[in-house]
Amino acid sequence: MKNLLGNSVKELENLAINYGQAPFRGRQIYKWIYNYRNKNKNIDQIEVLPLDFRKKLKDDGFKVSELSFQDKNLANDGTLKLLLSTGDHESIECVGIPTEKRLTACLSSQVGCPMDCKFCATGKEGLKRSLKVSEILDQILFIENEMNRKVTNIVFMGMGEPLLNIDDLLLSIRSINEDLQISQRKITVSTVAIPKMIKKLSLKSFEILGNCQFTLAISLHASNQKTREMIIPSAKNYDIKNIIEDCKQFIRDTGRRVSFEYLMLTGVNDKLEHANELSNLLKGFQCHVNLIQYNQIDEVDFKRSSLKNLQLFQSRLSNNGITVSFRKSRGLDKNAACGQLRQNAGNK
Ligand code: SF4
Repeated sequence: MKNLLGNSVKELENLAINYGQAPFRGRQIYKWIYNYRNKNKNIDQIEVLPLDFRKKLKDDGFKVSELSFQDKNLANDGTLKLLLSTGDHESIECVGIPTEKRLTACLSSQVGCPMDCKFCATGKEGLKRSLKVSEILDQILFIENEMNRKVTNIVFMGMGEPLLNIDDLLLSIRSINEDLQISQRKITVSTVAIPKMIKKLSLKSFEILGNCQFTLAISLHASNQKTREMIIPSAKNYDIKNIIEDCKQFIRDTGRRVSFEYLMLTGVNDKLEHANELSNLLKGFQCHVNLIQYNQIDEVDFKRSSLKNLQLFQSRLSNNGITVSFRKSRGLDKNAACGQLRQNAGNK
């Protein structure tokens, strides 16, 4: 199925020309998709287009939406988790996280995930496939429609490893930026880190976007290689010191600060000796550490660190000269928090 969503204004103008229409018809489709963000996602609804043009587009299999609504869950803190179906009957989840000034969309980049991080519900189900640009963008439009406000920030922290879907990731960032008018600086790409892919990310960003202004967040979760391999089995292919070196190169290449996500797990990585080790690892490095409270899932034994341990850890990093903050989990009561997204509807 061909989709009009994800196309640039130029591409839609060319499409109109190919159908014997004036280029402004392409601009009308563009406006309808990106400016009006209509809830009724149907080519018939683009009433400014001549009927026969609409019919031809439909006959040729064009659509303006990719996903369909399956279920939603609203957490006590206003966080909304959406379960959406793809055209081939797979399910994905995405989350809208509101504050007074922002609406952050946490997007999935794959159906499932092959990385099998031990703390994560998504990884338990393996990878089905990567998502297309239109499927990534449609998650944003669904969140906006359900929450009745515009998305202001994007985090690729939902299901999947974004760097394993790098072309569609970057093409969707192009569209989020140019078509949905969300600045690249308000977009965060989170990765568990794959060998050679950090370099490739900056190279491909310059190729596809002309620059690289989004934030790169590395799911580090450990202060040494051994602990990291215990939490993230795929880490055995990529030494933690090499990750740090590649991140330093990313900063030299792009001028963008890197942030490190650090999930606090009782007795595993949350002692003061780990804080010191992490400080040494990141010493002299322009970066930011984000401490995250672990969100319990049924299948694993990890326990969330106490608030006291978290505060001690945070102070130690700060005293060691590391910029650090603590990210509170949102949407916990509806399993909409970090590491809790799944493909099946039964886990609410
Ligand atoms: S944490 Fe991210 S990379 Fe790891 S299994 Fe879950 S979705 Fe995949």
